[in-house]
Amino acid sequence: MMLLISSPAGAGKTSLSRRLVADHSELRLSISATTRAPRPGEEEGREYYFKTRDEFEAMIARGEFLEYATVNGNYYGTPKQPVLEALEAGHDVLFDIDWQGAAQIAEKQPDDSVRVFILPPVWSDLERRLRARAQDSDEVIEARLRLGREEIAHWTAYDYVIVNKNFDRAYADLGHIYRAERIKPGRNPWLPGFVDGLLGE
Ligand code: 5GP
Repeated sequence: MMLLISSPAGAGKTSLSRRLVADHSELRLSISATTRAPRPGEEEGREYYFKTRDEFEAMIARGEFLEYATVNGNYYGTPKQPVLEALEAGHDVLFDIDWQGAAQIAEKQPDDSVRVFILPPVWSDLERRLRARAQDSDEVIEARLRLGREEIAHWTAYDYVIVNKNFDRAYADLGHIYRAERIKPGRNPWLPGFVDGLLGE
């Protein structure tokens, strides 16, 4: 199962996603590649794989991305190999990606994709959270807010929408979504054999 989570920057998507992955050993986080510069505190291979434009374009040419998109003038993309390996090993994969990437993956693999959108309770919350991070300049924050409006315009394409008014509540909702989707019969290929065994006892 591929859990695709999108939101405008500052709505809490990254904290919610990382906590869900930390709390579920069967769920793996997809680490994206990007051409944007690392922010203070970000580490190669933990938040992103940081690439030059040339490196990124070479990866595109080699067909190494499951999806990629341009966000705010930078490339962002999901390397295919680690995702396929995780899925083959029986793990679920969580993607913290924008609407363009979520749409591309959901189109390719509709049955395996679950899309969740995170909204802020009020618009001023986004600005406050972006400023509180103190990682970006005013200009960058303005651009991210503009981009947030574009991102929100795509909310109707998602299977679930969580308004992140309270982190614990929003996290509980996300956990319920994950759990309910995980126990759908189609996602548990062992079930028919299990039922056969049950009836054969
Ligand atoms: P940020 O620069 O704040 O880390 O990310 C900017 C936006 O790019 C966020 O909405 C984030 O979810 C999105 N993003 C991160 N990785 C990917 C990716 O691999 N593909 C796509 N399409 N979007 C991504």
